Amino acid sequence: MIGFDYVKATDVSDAVEAIAGNPDARFIAGGTNLIDLMKENIARPRMLIDITGLPLTDIEETEAGGLRIGALVPNSDLAYDERIKSRYPVLSSALLAGASAQLRNMASTGGNLLQRTRCLYFYDTTTACNKRQPGSGCGALEGFNRMNAILGWSSSCIAVHPSDMCVALAALEAKVHVSGPNGDRAIPFADFHRLPGDTPQIDTNLAPDEIILALELPAQGFATNYTYLKLRDRMSYAFALVSVAVGLELEGDTIEEARIALGGVAHKPWRVPEAEQVLKNKTTDRERYGAAADAILEGAIGFSHNSFKIGLARRAIVRALEQAASGTPQIQSEKATR
Ligand code: SF4
Repeated sequence: MIGFDYVKATDVSDAVEAIAGNPDARFIAGGTNLIDLMKENIARPRMLIDITGLPLTDIEETEAGGLRIGALVPNSDLAYDERIKSRYPVLSSALLAGASAQLRNMASTGGNLLQRTRCLYFYDTTTACNKRQPGSGCGALEGFNRMNAILGWSSSCIAVHPSDMCVALAALEAKVHVSGPNGDRAIPFADFHRLPGDTPQIDTNLAPDEIILALELPAQGFATNYTYLKLRDRMSYAFALVSVAVGLELEGDTIEEARIALGGVAHKPWRVPEAEQVLKNKTTDRERYGAAADAILEGAIGFSHNSFKIGLARRAIVRALEQAASGTPQIQSEKATR
C-alpha cells in the first residue's frame, strides 16, 4: 500500500496554497476517477487535498445572460437543474448519457473535465503507455484500439477523452474559470483540453497548481434545435464510440448558426468551426450535412480496429443534424427507461 496525506481545504486560497509547490498533491472532490487510478497504482499522489467544503456548489445567472456553474455541482444536479434543462438541453442530455446514476451523483462538474482516458493500456500497468509512463511507448498503436482516436492523434498516443459533458460544452463554447497562485483566469473551452503531441501525459492546459472554480455558459443555449447523439456498444454505462453534440439556430429552414462537436474520436472534444460555416445561411439539407461531416472528418485516419469510426462518425453527424433541425433530439434519459 502506498501511503498519502489528507488535508481538507477551508477556502479557495487555502486549496491553492496547499497545492502550490507540491507536484505530488492532487485535489479530490467526487473521486470517481482518481480513486480508481489510485487503486490501480496509476496515480500515486502523496497528498490528497479535499475540496468538497469549498463554496463552489451554486448555479448562478451571469450578467451576460448565461449561467455560472460551480465546479462542485454534482453531474446529476446539473443535468436535472431546470435552467439547464430548459435553456441548455444539449448539456443535460449529454450528462445523462454518461456513466451511471450513482456515478453522476458523486462526480463533480470540475472533475468531469479532468477525468482521464479509458484507454485499456493506460489502466494495464503491465503494458507500455506514454500517458502513464512517458517514454515507455504506446500499447494501443499495435494493440486492440477499437475505442481509440481517429483525429488529432500522434505517434505517442491515440487515446480519446471519455467525457460526454465536455462534448456539449465544446458546442456551447463554455469558459472554464480557474484560480492559481497568479490569480484567476478564464480559459475558452476549446483551449482547455490538449492534443497528445509528444507530451500525452498532459491532458489539459490547467496548470498543476490551479483549481477549477466554475464553468460559464454563454446566453446562447440552442434550446430548440439540438441533439446529443451517442453511439456505443450498449445503451448505458458505456463510453462513446462516437458522439455528436449539435446546436442549430434556425430561421424557417435557414441555418443561421451551427455548432457541431464530436466525442469518442480524439484526445479532446473535436470541433471544426470552418465546417460549421458550410451550413451557415444555408437551408437545411441532408447533402449539405454530409459536406459538413466531410469537413469535420478531414484528415481522419483509423487503426487496425477502429477505422469503422470514420464512416460511423460521418453517419452520426448527418443524423444528429437531421434530428436537431427537425427538433426531435434523442433524449438519453427517456431512452434508458424504455
Ligand atoms: Fe497510453 Fe495513449 Fe497509447 Fe493508450 S493510446 S496506450 S493512453 S499512450
